[in-house]
Amino acid sequence: MEKRIYNLNAGPAVLPEEVLLEAQKELFALPGVGMSILEISHRSKTFDAIHAEAKEGIKKLLNVPDDYSILFLQGGASLQFSMVALNLMPPKNKADYILTGSWSKKAMKEAKRVGTVNIAASTEEGEGDKKYFKRIPKQSELKLDPDASYVHFTSNNTIYGTQWKSEPQVGNVPLVCDASSDILYKPIDVSKYAMIYAGAQKNIGPSGVVLVIIRKDMLERSQDSLHTMLNYKIQAENDSLYNTPNTFGIYIIKLVTKHLLNNGGLDKMYEINKKKAEILYNALDNSGGFYKGHADKDSRSLMNVTFNLPTPELEKKLIDETVKAGFAGLKGHRSVGGLRASIYNAFPIKGVEELVAFMNDFQKKNG
Ligand SMILES: *Cc1c(COP(=O)(O)O)cnc(C)c1O
Repeated sequence: MEKRIYNLNAGPAVLPEEVLLEAQKELFALPGVGMSILEISHRSKTFDAIHAEAKEGIKKLLNVPDDYSILFLQGGASLQFSMVALNLMPPKNKADYILTGSWSKKAMKEAKRVGTVNIAASTEEGEGDKKYFKRIPKQSELKLDPDASYVHFTSNNTIYGTQWKSEPQVGNVPLVCDASSDILYKPIDVSKYAMIYAGAQKNIGPSGVVLVIIRKDMLERSQDSLHTMLNYKIQAENDSLYNTPNTFGIYIIKLVTKHLLNNGGLDKMYEINKKKAEILYNALDNSGGFYKGHADKDSRSLMNVTFNLPTPELEKKLIDETVKAGFAGLKGHRSVGGLRASIYNAFPIKGVEELVAFMNDFQKKNG
């Protein structure tokens, strides 16, 4: 079999090896079915069971209360930017957005097409084309409208490497979260949210499927005038099967959630994620300024570790050398440069330790 390397890509991203091997084993013919998951009907009993297990896996891992629907939709997290606004903004047509990075700005852009957006906080700094984010706002910085249709925030800022330590307090206003890059990284209290959505390709599966967890009372906001496929109420009434869903993506989510449940669930995952991030951030902090973390310390992400070297030339040299040494995906997002190590759930501790050893060695030779 082909040898695997360490995958630090931001998304699509690393999946558990066990899951890939199981999918490989079953890809030719599902046990007892004689056909591949790629070949079976989304209305078959076999797929019904896979779909139910994927939902059950999410429900168990996150302790999702019974008054929430779990949907698997398409169009990525980016289509949710539109669907959230189209479904949940009416009738007041005003919503609060907390801006902590590029993805929250994109979410706001779509909401502005539907109604009035109040920027409850923005941590953007810099001027012109040198604008950036490096921190999460404090609760005291939020200027919330108690009459807003909802408050939207991004729990983990994939590009800048910042992350909320806990949800913003928003009183009785429904809280909506884009959790694309940190869903399932730790236990959360779902009852604090009206809706959570996440593109699967960072932490729970392949691209092409987006997880939506929505409190059932929110479905009543979806108006009949909405296009069918953009209507949460219709998607929920049809159990995500109004049209053909991403059957393969849902199958992989089933395997990933089963893998997590068999390996200690989200408490265990959180413990491992904290440990991995600590190893990497300690390496940055102990490098005498050679490796400089981008995010403010109290806003650091456990999922995406962003940093710089003294010069862009050294950054390029390190990236080139890590590629040769078997690490993929360390280059920062094209909009911000620098380096980014995405160490999602499925990235192993051993990989972080080997990366740090490599970086220490690189510093000795080039520092
Ligand atoms: C990757 C990402 C998105 C975009 O996801 P798509 O599925 O490509 O639309 C949105 N929000 C966050 C936080 C992301 O990390």
